[in-house]
Amino acid sequence: MDDLTSWLDNQQERGLLRCLRPAERLGNGRIRLLAEGSPSRPLLDFSSNDYLGLAHDPRLIAAGKEALARYGAGSGAARLMSGDLEIHHQLEGAVAALKNKEAALLFGSGYMANTGIIPALVGRHDVIFSDRLNHASIYDGCRLSGASTIRFRHNDLTQLSELLAQKRGANKALIIVESIYSMDGDRCPLAELAALKNRYDCLLMVDEAHATGVYGDSGGGIIEEEGVSEHVDLAMGTFGKALGSYGAYVAASPKMISYLLNRARSFIFSTALPPAVVAASLAAIKILKEEPGLRQELLAKVRFFKDRLAQNGLKHLGDSQIVPIVIGEAGQALAAASRLQDLGLFVTAVRPPTVPEGSARLRLSITRDQTLADLESAAISLAEVVGNPPTPAP
Ligand SMILES: *Cc1c(COP(=O)(O)O)cnc(C)c1O
Repeated sequence: MDDLTSWLDNQQERGLLRCLRPAERLGNGRIRLLAEGSPSRPLLDFSSNDYLGLAHDPRLIAAGKEALARYGAGSGAARLMSGDLEIHHQLEGAVAALKNKEAALLFGSGYMANTGIIPALVGRHDVIFSDRLNHASIYDGCRLSGASTIRFRHNDLTQLSELLAQKRGANKALIIVESIYSMDGDRCPLAELAALKNRYDCLLMVDEAHATGVYGDSGGGIIEEEGVSEHVDLAMGTFGKALGSYGAYVAASPKMISYLLNRARSFIFSTALPPAVVAASLAAIKILKEEPGLRQELLAKVRFFKDRLAQNGLKHLGDSQIVPIVIGEAGQALAAASRLQDLGLFVTAVRPPTVPEGSARLRLSITRDQTLADLESAAISLAEVVGNPPTPAP
């Protein structure tokens, strides 16, 4: 027990202790914090991954309700036992089409997908080349696999090609990247990665958690936008972000999918996703296809917000709907987030170990639920808090 106390006290002193904060998302770009001492008025929500505002869409809710009534609350078993419902296959078909692949497989969550897929593909005698900024679930998958894992500098393909030349070896090799990075909000150079993976005969796995639904003509992500699906062996993504639902998938060749469903332990030994969740995901994919205007509206808001930041003298990282503003020390980032909260903005401070020491930041997610007026006033509050004086008119 003393161990726990001293660890917790130490985290607290360093401003790194995390705690749960109950909240209610109101579905209009606003969030109400419920913890004692929180402001009672709703705050403008810059912390949600529900980029298209689909979580509260009446069509997703109706689809979920209908599936709940028809199939029940739970799927009753793992897919390979007796939990393999028709609706799971419908969603897999929709995902395969969205990702321009012949087949797909559902997983309970993105964390489970990455920790299941990677160890199924590579083992002790193999090698993984993983971008340094990859999500924790990818790291955990790499560690579970026992493969030798080489982390290359973020988006540094010069270093990656040197490492491939030196360390590719004779066994299996897997390159893993994200198409939109969650903490820097930037993208990977997918076409160049595809060329490298072909030159060095590796498997290429792309995590599209933050890109699916937001990019590509039918919402298929950066893989679709760049037209490289034939070079991506494993197109992984989640339903819990822009698709407003929950769960995850991988799209691949039929051979790869039948291999994974025999080998990925997080798929085999876990109960199938519940029907209501699957139905909501299906409804979301249908909306993505039918309403490209949702994506265009979101991206127009992102451009608007970034213009306003620039006008207010604020710099940001990234090239997507994720807009990080680097502050520096963890304590400063926390203080900035707390002052923003007083001004009516809910923004998360991202601190080490999630990001490197000294690069603690405010991470703002732009969603379609925010109005231009919301974005305008947020940029002004940010300028006030982050302390950059407005640039004089030219
Ligand atoms: C969110 C996220 C995951 C995890 O997905 P969950 O469904 O939330 O478990 C995996 N990879 C990336 C890049 C993510 O951003």
